[in-house]
Amino acid sequence: MPTLADYQHVARGKVRDLYDVDDELLLFVASDRISAYDHVLSTEIPDKGRVLTAMSVFWFERLGPNHLVAADDPRIPAEVRGRALLVRKLDMVDVECVARGYLTGSGMADYRQTGAVCGIELPEGLVEADELDPPIFTPASKAEIGQHDENVSFDVIAAKHGIELASKLRDRTIELYSEARAYAKTRGLILADTKFEFGLNKQGELILADEVFTPDSSRYWPAEGYAPGRVQPSFDKQYVRDWLTSDASGWDRKSDTPPPPLPQDVVAATRQRYVEAYELLTGRSFADWLA
Ligand code: ATP
Ligand code: MG
Repeated sequence: MPTLADYQHVARGKVRDLYDVDDELLLFVASDRISAYDHVLSTEIPDKGRVLTAMSVFWFERLGPNHLVAADDPRIPAEVRGRALLVRKLDMVDVECVARGYLTGSGMADYRQTGAVCGIELPEGLVEADELDPPIFTPASKAEIGQHDENVSFDVIAAKHGIELASKLRDRTIELYSEARAYAKTRGLILADTKFEFGLNKQGELILADEVFTPDSSRYWPAEGYAPGRVQPSFDKQYVRDWLTSDASGWDRKSDTPPPPLPQDVVAATRQRYVEAYELLTGRSFADWLA
C-alpha cells in the first residue's frame, strides 16, 4: 500500500492538496479546513473533507463527463481514504463557472450597484434571495488566496478563451446547475447557486473537474422557511458565522486580525450540519461512506 509520502505534492489550494500519481492521474485530497468571511479558520471541522468528497462522488456518478476515476482504489493511501479521489489530470480552464438561480452574495451586490450581474441586465425591484428563472451564468476570474474572485461578463471570457469554449462553459454550467437544482428541491433543499471548474483532456474535450455541488462550492438553503427579502441562513456555516459575529468570539470582522479558534460546541454542531447536508441530499448514511 502506498503512503502519501510516496507521491509528489504538486499543489495546495485553500482546502485541497494535489499529488502526482502518474502521467495521467492526480490524487485529489480534501482537508478538514473551513473558511468563513474570507478567512481560513485555525480550527478544522472533523470529517468535513470526507463529507465533501462523498458529496462530490454522489454527483459525479450522476453527471456527464467528469474527472473522477475512483474513490476506492489501492493507489489511494489508507491515511486519506474517504477524503481523497483519483482524478484525471486536466489542463484547467481558468474560469470560475458560476450559475445563479437566486440573487445573493456578490450577485446581489453587483445588482444593487448596476442593475446587472456580469453584464446580464435583471428586472428592477428584485430583493435579496429572489429566484432567477432562468438561472444565469455569472463567471468569475479566479483570485489569489485571500483575494475575492472578480465577476466578469461573458464577453470577457469569450475574448480570452474564444466564443466556442466560452459558450460551452456557459451552456454546461447552466445545464448542470438546472439538473441539480431540480433534484435538490425534491430533497427539501434550495440550491441557490454553484461554482464549477472545467478542464480540457488531451483530446481537447471539456471535462467537469474539481468538486461539485458541495457546500463549499454551492449555497444550499433549507427550503422550509425560505423567504426572499432577507439573507437566508446558510445550511452549513451558520453556527460558525453566528458565533464569529457574536460578542462571545470577541472578534471584529472589519479588523485585519484573523478569527479566533472555534469552541468545541460550534465545531460539533457544524460537523453535524455537514453530515446532515450529505444525508439529506443523497438519502445515504454517512456511516456507510469509506472510512
Ligand atoms: P477555492 O476552491 O476555495 O476557490 P482553490 O480552488 O485554490 O480555492 P482547492 O479546492 O483547495 O482550492 O484546490 C483544488 C485545485 O485543484 C484548484 O486549483 C483546481 O483548479 C485544481 N483542480 C481541480 N481538478 C483538477 C484536475 N482534474 N486536474 C488538475 N487540476 C485540478
Ligand atoms: Mg476549489
